[in-house]
Amino acid sequence: MTNNDQLKTLKLLAKRYARATGKPQHVALDFVANRLGFPHWNALTGSVKAEWTPSEAQTASIKAFVERITSYEDRTFDHIFGGPDAITRGEVRGHPYELKIMLGDVLMEGDGWRIVLPENPSAAPRVEIHINHAQNSPMNDRVLLAEAIGTAKDLMQSVKARRFADWPRRATKPDAEEKVRHPFLQMEESSRWYCLHCNAEITGSQIAGNHWHCPGCGASPINIFPEAFWLGPNEEKPVPVQARAEGQEIEPIVSVVDPRPKLDLSKDQVTHLIRAALFEDAINASERMGASLAEIWVDDDLDVVVSFEDHYWPEEKEPTAAIEVAAVLGIEIELEVFWSDPLFGWPGLGTVTQSAAEYTRMMLDAYRSHGIIEERDENR
Ligand SMILES: [Zn+2]
Repeated sequence: MTNNDQLKTLKLLAKRYARATGKPQHVALDFVANRLGFPHWNALTGSVKAEWTPSEAQTASIKAFVERITSYEDRTFDHIFGGPDAITRGEVRGHPYELKIMLGDVLMEGDGWRIVLPENPSAAPRVEIHINHAQNSPMNDRVLLAEAIGTAKDLMQSVKARRFADWPRRATKPDAEEKVRHPFLQMEESSRWYCLHCNAEITGSQIAGNHWHCPGCGASPINIFPEAFWLGPNEEKPVPVQARAEGQEIEPIVSVVDPRPKLDLSKDQVTHLIRAALFEDAINASERMGASLAEIWVDDDLDVVVSFEDHYWPEEKEPTAAIEVAAVLGIEIELEVFWSDPLFGWPGLGTVTQSAAEYTRMMLDAYRSHGIIEERDENR
């Protein structure tokens, strides 16, 4: 394989990994780069352009890893994201509630309170009380709270009973050697299991007893494997997980929450508002390039300096929408101009059309008849 083929293969593997794990693509690319010893993807591609090439063995190891992660994605998602069950309504000591399942957790909601009972049996139930009800919430009554959590636990138990019915018996009942089978991934039975998240070593009884959630970090069953194949020979060996003592009751975590959306304006948010206004101010394809090229700098008081690129934003053009946004936000806006090489030759071409596609066509035509278009370098 050429360098380029290797890179393409790695990119493809990262895409599959991203899809299977629900991670953004750039995270998956960085993840692949990390596994090959680079801080991030751009560092990897930079090295490929210079002298380094991933060996076929390295590419193969990434491939094996991604295949293991993705080979069971369909089956997995059924278990993790099982369809939303119907809502059950009831009352706890005269206080009405609604009970439902969300992503495997049980959710119980009343007037100004809710209880989340996580699918992971060793995680504490979370009780959230709306700030307006903090003083007089029924959840302040410990007996009532315990009763409500009991109801949520009953639902969890019946949901799990249904799920365990689909699992191989060996997933919940270790044999004499503590060997268990993964509930839905096709893998060997084993008496030792490893968590992809925290690298913990977990015994067969521990993992079965915790319904295949890591007893250390709570990671879900798709993260549990019979060998820590992701650890290189020089990485730290997994250590036995620190599990909670048997039969220990888990205290609920009660917190007062204010669920109203809260605005704490950030530099990033201001930048996006100003940028959106610049696009509104732009009246043709060229000025929209100017809106996209403009540098927006926000200081600690959220005052803004906008630097316009001279080729794409006419010097005399007032960004009225941006000025208005600044006025609404009550911040200062300062405008300046900078010069750089235009992105493309004949930057004025974009002033005669509204359409980005039309502009692209004209720009390419201009290069074809009055300039040179280089063949695409595949390594870029
Ligand atoms: Zn873990």
